[in-house]
Amino acid sequence: MSSKTSRAKRYYAQRAYAFDLLGRVCVNCGSADADELVLDHVDRTQKRIRFCDAGRVSWERFIAELKNAQVLCCICHGSKSFYERYDDSPFEDDDEFDEAWEEWTR
Ligand SMILES: [Zn+2]
Repeated sequence: MSSKTSRAKRYYAQRAYAFDLLGRVCVNCGSADADELVLDHVDRTQKRIRFCDAGRVSWERFIAELKNAQVLCCICHGSKSFYERYDDSPFEDDDEFDEAWEEWTR
């Protein structure tokens, strides 16, 4: 078995483990659409690995990272990232918000 195959296997195994542990439902809106669910860092500043790098990292590191993880659907994840991005620069008005949101979701 090539190392690429085993890495892919570990990727799926680690992600399955994460969802078993954290639940297969968005903590924000309750969506349980498996295709839409993503792993998210609760506290981005404490991020050590990217979850898309599952499979490349050891089980030890991956499991440690899950202490700072939650499950979100794509939509909630998108808006969380959006608000984190713009947190330091509050919007003047709704128009400015709409513009930034459109830019973000393009
Ligand atoms: Zn959601």
